[in-house]
Amino acid sequence: MIRIGGLGISGLYLYWRLKNDGFDVTGTDKKKDNFYIPCGYATNEKLMQEYMSRINFDFHEYVLSRADNVIFSGNNFQDRTLNSSGLCTFDKNKMEKDVREGVEQVSINSMEKSLIVDATGISRSFLGRSQNDVQYYTLEYLTDESEYDDFYFYFLKYGKGYFWSFPLGDKYHVGIGSISKEDLVRVRKYKPIKITSRNIRMIPLFDSLNKSNIIGIGEAIGTVSPITGEGIIPSIKSAEIMYQCIKTYDPQELAEAYRERIIKEFGYYSKLHQLVSSIQSGKILSINNISSIKYVKQTVNDFGIKFEILPFLKHFI
Ligand SMILES: Cc1cc2nc3c(=O)[nH]c(=O)nc-3n(C[C@H](O)[C@H](O)[C@H](O)COP(=O)(O)OP(=O)(O)OC[C@H]3O[C@@H](n4cnc5c(N)ncnc54)[C@H](O)[C@@H]3O)c2cc1C
Repeated sequence: MIRIGGLGISGLYLYWRLKNDGFDVTGTDKKKDNFYIPCGYATNEKLMQEYMSRINFDFHEYVLSRADNVIFSGNNFQDRTLNSSGLCTFDKNKMEKDVREGVEQVSINSMEKSLIVDATGISRSFLGRSQNDVQYYTLEYLTDESEYDDFYFYFLKYGKGYFWSFPLGDKYHVGIGSISKEDLVRVRKYKPIKITSRNIRMIPLFDSLNKSNIIGIGEAIGTVSPITGEGIIPSIKSAEIMYQCIKTYDPQELAEAYRERIIKEFGYYSKLHQLVSSIQSGKILSINNISSIKYVKQTVNDFGIKFEILPFLKHFI
């Protein structure tokens, strides 16, 4: 028996991968039906289509806006217009609701001896807190007016985070994620239809991804890009790795095998986290950091944006 705690994107994906393969699996979530998910809803359409088709969903049906131009702006470089390689926004609320349909929901008793998967995102409700955690504040408005028509990113001074404006059909998400609460004020000039906020985990927690019979996936273990804050596809990827490990390994080998594969896939997030921390503390030019700059390109490309590092080098040195 496998119990999944948390039916956000990673928990849902894992549930259907296991269920469709004949595993005995249940899920549970505590959010209310009409809860508006705090997230920019931006992702890479090509990759999402590939993953969602594995659980028999057509991702294209949920796409709201496709990026044409992507503007990168920042305190330390001039505005640059980049090309999209699949960046889009989608109706995350509808998609998750549809994917949740038919999930067998059973609440988890913490004394349970079965495998418990902690997919509770920022709250790590089953694994518990990690001492090494790093969380940024966020604030996001759903609004029907923005001065930016296409996808817009503004990177804050000292690598503190970024402001975004993403089209969402005939509306927009404008939001900000920052290590400083004071930066949230940037969003307040917009007229909100809805206001959402929650912290986002900006550090990989692969040293504390399991505890006795509990193993974490998704944002619970920090599969969020420390540069872009992209967490949807990385969290699905971690769920896919968990699914493959459950199929392959005995319960006593599972956690270590999973950790190894997670580190193989996402080890570079630790380097990116160090790079961002260095920028934040003004110490950038170490050999380690210079060698990590190539991963910045990788993580931005993964999000669905064609990006070269050279024009942005000043931001990092
Ligand atoms: C403001 C903001 C903007 C973002 N923008 C983007 C973006 O544009 N693109 C992108 O790729 N990523 C973005 N992210 C990150 C992304 O949303 C997450 O990393 C991703 O959704 C994580 O998926 P998950 O399944 O691991 O966790 P979540 O999607 O957070 O799901 C966790 C689930 O667990 C449930 N839960 C919590 N506690 C319990 C409990 N005790 N029992 C049962 N259930 C519980 C919650 O209700 C929730 O449904 C953003 C995040 C924030 C905060």
